[in-house]
Amino acid sequence: MDAWQRVAVVTGGSSGIGLATVTHLLHAGFRVGFFGQSASHVDQARTMIRRQFDDGWFLARCVDLTSPQQVAGFFSDVQDRWRMPDTLVCNAGISPKGPEGAAPFARLSLDEWNKVLSVNLTGAMLCCQAVVPAMVIQRFGRIILIGSIAGRALPKVAGTAYVVSKAALSGLCRSLLAACAGTGVTVNIVAPGRIVTEMAGTPESAVNRAALERIPVGRLGEPMDVASMIGFLASSDAGFINGAIIDVNGGEFAPL
Ligand code: NDP
Repeated sequence: MDAWQRVAVVTGGSSGIGLATVTHLLHAGFRVGFFGQSASHVDQARTMIRRQFDDGWFLARCVDLTSPQQVAGFFSDVQDRWRMPDTLVCNAGISPKGPEGAAPFARLSLDEWNKVLSVNLTGAMLCCQAVVPAMVIQRFGRIILIGSIAGRALPKVAGTAYVVSKAALSGLCRSLLAACAGTGVTVNIVAPGRIVTEMAGTPESAVNRAALERIPVGRLGEPMDVASMIGFLASSDAGFINGAIIDVNGGEFAPL
């Protein structure tokens, strides 16, 4: 492999925003390792990517982000295949919803709280911990955490655990800025608004029709709207963007 070949890892790369990001980075010339939790999603993603890229370019695995052993095993596979990644996109996330949306605060269970935080926050921290030492040594790195409008603005539909997990990524980002200071490693948050994916549901759902009314640009977001911003932050052109939260929400939340 070329010494300058970029290597990225995308968590939750098997569907939605993550899969769009994997594709975008592959087109930009990155080698990409990604994982999802469900075998069916990972298989579908692998089949789709194989139509355009040969197996030397990507590594697709089934990994449960809540298992530190599985996460460590995945990064070790990436390192064996190429080297430790210079780019990490912490995208995997869950947003539990009952038939009437997320449980109201008064009925939030400890189980839901722990589950959401372990994927959305602890999972991101574990992946950052896996890559930071190598990034610091090579004096280059791009860490992109996927937050949410729900962690920035008064939540409309998201539950407490999800809101807290996304808001807490700002603290993780600040900590990483300190840990990586002076090394050329950048850490940023991309905060999507309503993006049409499995998590957000179909555009016709009541929640999405209501969201559309609030979005000045006049449409819901597509996974590629977010992937292209992630791609830019991963690029060498974005070296002076550090510690930023970039909203990709069509203007639904515009802290001007
Ligand atoms: P999807 O549900 O389409 O994708 C979520 C991804 O995370 C899947 O690849 C899923 O894997 C993976 N994942 C979930 N749990 C685990 C786990 N325990 N271990 C490993 N992988 C896991 O959602 P989106 O693409 O919509 O969301 C991507 C990110 O964007 C999330 O962090 C979400 O919070 C954020 N976001 C999304 C918004 C939206 O409107 N869509 C709005 C704001 C933020 P698998 O499917 O294989 O189980």
